[in-house]
Amino acid sequence: MNDLTQCVLTPDVNTDGFASLGVAVHRASTIVFENAEAYASRGKRGPDGYSYGLYGTPTTRALEAKLTALEHGVRTFLVPSGQAANAITMLPFLTSGDKVLIADTAYPPVRDFANADLARFDVEVAYYDPANIDDLDRLIDDRTKIVWCESPGSTTMEVQDLPAISEIAHRHGSLVACDNTWATPLNYKPLTLGVDIVTEALTKYVSGHSDLLMGSLSVKDESLIAPIRSTLGRFGIGVSADDASLVLRGFETLGVRMHHAFSGAMQLIDIIERADVVDRVLHPALPSHPGHSIWKRDFLGASGVFSVVFKPGVAQHVVPALDVLKTFAIGASWGGTRSLAAPMSVKANRSATAWSGDDLVLRLSVGLEDAQDLQADIEALLAEISARA
Ligand SMILES: *Cc1c(COP(=O)(O)O)cnc(C)c1O
Repeated sequence: MNDLTQCVLTPDVNTDGFASLGVAVHRASTIVFENAEAYASRGKRGPDGYSYGLYGTPTTRALEAKLTALEHGVRTFLVPSGQAANAITMLPFLTSGDKVLIADTAYPPVRDFANADLARFDVEVAYYDPANIDDLDRLIDDRTKIVWCESPGSTTMEVQDLPAISEIAHRHGSLVACDNTWATPLNYKPLTLGVDIVTEALTKYVSGHSDLLMGSLSVKDESLIAPIRSTLGRFGIGVSADDASLVLRGFETLGVRMHHAFSGAMQLIDIIERADVVDRVLHPALPSHPGHSIWKRDFLGASGVFSVVFKPGVAQHVVPALDVLKTFAIGASWGGTRSLAAPMSVKANRSATAWSGDDLVLRLSVGLEDAQDLQADIEALLAEISARA
């Protein structure tokens, strides 16, 4: 064989006796076939066979299988972000004249997608109070094809009664979908509570290191697989094996990271709740939280993301005071090793429910730093807010 050809071909090496704990990174656009007949009949490999990189590699399938098992589903699909998972969950199941009901405290880009894109295709978009079953019952009709849930809700943490919501939705022939990013598949199993499709922003806790974007959708029923798979193919959506391998690596420590973040959050909340500038802390594991009893009934644990609501007149002093933070970084997204603080605006992102507090709340995500450093940061922040207020 000539040199240039040798440069291109990969030599066979002996892999006998090689077994590693890491998942191999199988990069591929082209899949090659052993002969012309295998290529001609590649369609017979079925949807779970390998035919083109976009439709999966052994690396992405390993991550999908891990998620499917944890979610108690039948199949998982990977997409390039958590928001892509949310949009792709809705697209295959909605057409003009249908209606979609969205929890009023859903992740704000879900509202944007519904108001801009679904509405443009004549899908009626309505918002319901996430914590009020009667509101859902009033709004739902037989044109409703998806009831969208997120529990707890983004920023303000309303916990949803998924079994009751699913019962109402299914009675009207609607699917139920739920964004499970806050709890992760370790701490909440929406597919066992009546939900049909669960989405995750793997970007957050599951990958866990703030360095990549990925999302997943897992389905409960075989009949949901084909519509999602074909939509992904037509839109040309898939993920790289490199990113999937990073998520697989982060996944291995998800349990200890979640445990640590939750206990760290509870320690900080204890300090925050006692500050005179603070009205209340929103975290479902607190007995004072309105959704606490449902959280206790349906969740297996909690994460380290929570929000702080300040006393009237205080919120305007929060943003300038953030500059005293030394260990917390200021930034959106969460679930990584680094603790984060992000001021969030509430009212612009709700239309069906009232919000009585100040428009600004402070969202905190607890990472893996030393507890004393985090505590010192929070004490300095509260003192600075107090001095300014
Ligand atoms: C961050 C987030 C998303 C979106 O994830 P990306 O990967 O950043 O697109 C979706 N849902 C919730 C609840 C989130 O917090």
